[in-house]
Amino acid sequence: MTLATIKAGIAAACKEAARKPEDVTLIAVSKNRGEAEILPLLESGQRVFGENRVQEAAEKWLPLRARFPDVELHFIGQLQSNKAKEAVALFDVIHTVDRPSLAEALAKEMQKQNRPLPCFIQVNTGAEPQKGGIAPEELAGFYKTCTADLGLNIIGLMCIPPVEEVPELHFALLHKHARALGLAQLSMGMSGDYPAAIRLHATHIRIGSALFTVM
Ligand SMILES: *Cc1c(COP(=O)(O)O)cnc(C)c1O
Repeated sequence: MTLATIKAGIAAACKEAARKPEDVTLIAVSKNRGEAEILPLLESGQRVFGENRVQEAAEKWLPLRARFPDVELHFIGQLQSNKAKEAVALFDVIHTVDRPSLAEALAKEMQKQNRPLPCFIQVNTGAEPQKGGIAPEELAGFYKTCTADLGLNIIGLMCIPPVEEVPELHFALLHKHARALGLAQLSMGMSGDYPAAIRLHATHIRIGSALFTVM
């Protein structure tokens, strides 16, 4: 599919939900994609990209950013605390703050580098042991730690629904949690389920395969 196809899909879902397309940020997930695949998107005007590995992102985006300085990079993968320094230096938004040790490492680096990046808390809505994210029952306490104790700029919540479940339930749950905390931003929805995510108030959708797979 092309960028135009996805944008039409976003517009259609927004219309159905009586929302404005400009309130939904399309994050083009460029993990595992090389420059040859990314360049056409940049040339079509896409500027917001998502990556899930710090090292891979640095190698790819340091040169690309020299040519496209207004690119905005979102980190969407599991982050090890010892990569916080590099992540804070490279990325503009972090979607996967999910445990106290990482929150502390990020807060320390953001202060040191004077880069108070907007962050999302990742919530493990499906309680999957192999997946990142704070448990829903620990979310309120963790939010308080992140904001009141560590001074992180938490702007919203993020989730990745279990593949075998109906994503709508997870999107609705994430929205409910965000409302309870007074958070306006929701990072949810991927290639297979972004229209549903938009109907359930997503503000940031993360699209990989649908944008890059030639059909
Ligand atoms: C890879 C990835 C995506 C994109 O998934 P697609 O199904 O390819 O659109 C979105 N979010 C996260 C966290 C990812 O790792």
